[in-house]
Amino acid sequence: MAKQEDDFKKVISHAKEYGYVFQSSEIYDGLSAVYDYAQNGAELKKNIREYWWRAMVQLNENIVGIDAAILMHPTTWKASGHVDAFTDPLIDNKDSKKRYRADVLVEEYAAKIETKIEKEVSKAAKRFGGAFDKKQFLATNQRVVDYQEKAASILKRLGRSLENEDLADVKKLIEELDIACPMSGSKNWTDVKQFNLMFGTKLGAAAESAIDLYLRPETAQGIFVNFLNVQKSGRMKIPFGIAQTGKAFRNEIVARQFIFRMREFEQMEMQFFIRPGTQNEWYEKWKENRMKWHFSLGMGEENYRFHDHDKLAHYADAATDIEFRFPFGFKELEGIHSRTDFDLGSHEKFSGKKLRYFDPELKDSYVPYVVETSIGLDRMFLAVFSNSLKEEELENGSTRTVLKLPAVLAPTKAAVFPLVKKDGLPELAHQIIDDLKWDFNVVYDEKDAVGRRYRRQDANGTPFCITVDHQTLEDQTVTIRHRDTMQQQRVAISGVKAIIAKEVDMKTWLMKMG
Ligand code: ATP
Repeated sequence: MAKQEDDFKKVISHAKEYGYVFQSSEIYDGLSAVYDYAQNGAELKKNIREYWWRAMVQLNENIVGIDAAILMHPTTWKASGHVDAFTDPLIDNKDSKKRYRADVLVEEYAAKIETKIEKEVSKAAKRFGGAFDKKQFLATNQRVVDYQEKAASILKRLGRSLENEDLADVKKLIEELDIACPMSGSKNWTDVKQFNLMFGTKLGAAAESAIDLYLRPETAQGIFVNFLNVQKSGRMKIPFGIAQTGKAFRNEIVARQFIFRMREFEQMEMQFFIRPGTQNEWYEKWKENRMKWHFSLGMGEENYRFHDHDKLAHYADAATDIEFRFPFGFKELEGIHSRTDFDLGSHEKFSGKKLRYFDPELKDSYVPYVVETSIGLDRMFLAVFSNSLKEEELENGSTRTVLKLPAVLAPTKAAVFPLVKKDGLPELAHQIIDDLKWDFNVVYDEKDAVGRRYRRQDANGTPFCITVDHQTLEDQTVTIRHRDTMQQQRVAISGVKAIIAKEVDMKTWLMKMG
């Protein structure tokens, strides 16, 4: 645990030191769970968004993208169920005065049991060596079987109690499991209460006539209310999808994990409209497709897993999370939900407008079903950033800090250095930048010895460094150094662009999705 916390602290301080993420309004001591993206962070975030957009919109003939407003008619949130049901169960510790999500306290307890299972598995794997059969071990080792049953029964009871709105039983469960406040160790808990996560605001100048609005807590509803407009104006035929990226706001109860859980964040969502009855097939297809997208970035397939929901949201008939191994353990990165006709059906009722599709093959009209994929851009940023940050021991015994971002996402693709600040080398370096800048983000750096400059760019995540020296003046060649291998090659200036393009080209990366 201590190492995990330490690693996570390093991620946060590196993000600040290298201009990726700052706390919002830091000069006023910050605003809790709100963050600003700095010069490098804004670029990385933009590249992740672009990588998603291309995979969803550009590569799928039947998916289009929109950009709906953050403010929406207030009835939207009645229809979507958010006014009544977008709540989290909260519990306070009376001694430490700390506030928690009651469901999260229980889930973390269950996760600890799962960690114990993982430990037993790795111990056994060591003991049995090549003959180890994990499946058999999980099914037959009594201690592990007991652990699994315990975790499953806890989560089942939590799911049932939440579904039945039985908050007293959630508190009872916390007491039975003897869960203590992680900050103080106290077990002196208040009752569990529901808390609505939407931020309210007002539209209009005069206090009496102002209308109460909400900042959208998800981008999806902007897609649902535009379903028919897009379908008609784009002459879309089912199955088809509408994608969108944009800000969402949630007044989260507990927000202590940097950009993992923010009060203002960005989502990348896609709603896929289908014939009723085909939802299982599309749900499976989108699960597979989204996992391939994640794998294409090469961040280690062992760092992802699906986690199917026991407790379904009011709108869903199936739901899973793609979980990622963050510095603090496996946690939700993306949700894939089969939302039935709940949203469109409900907007029909509340608006009195038909939101149906006439299916020319069936010669019938219906309210389409929806499978959605929903990923937090900031969470994806944290996944990429934390997974890329490495401390490496070098052959000479020294260490280097390197941010091994997938090159396609790196904010800066290359840094160009003159070996010394004279003899026309800076001018030549600038000429190279002037040529490369039309295709890539490139920077110039002449400060400190070249070794120090390499380290700086490693920590910044820049995949290439190009050094101009006296030989360049004679034969028009430069040294190009690769961030991950630290290997250096002497190449003609005219060949530099192709070397960079080969590694950062979005097409090459996206084609790994197969
Ligand atoms: P959680 O259980 O972590 O609160 P959720 O299940 O409520 O998340 P969804 O409503 O399914 O999340 O939202 C889809 C995605 O939006 C999530 O997978 C996550 O990546 C992102 N997301 C949700 N809430 C936040 C937040 N407060 N800060 C950053 N990203 C978020």
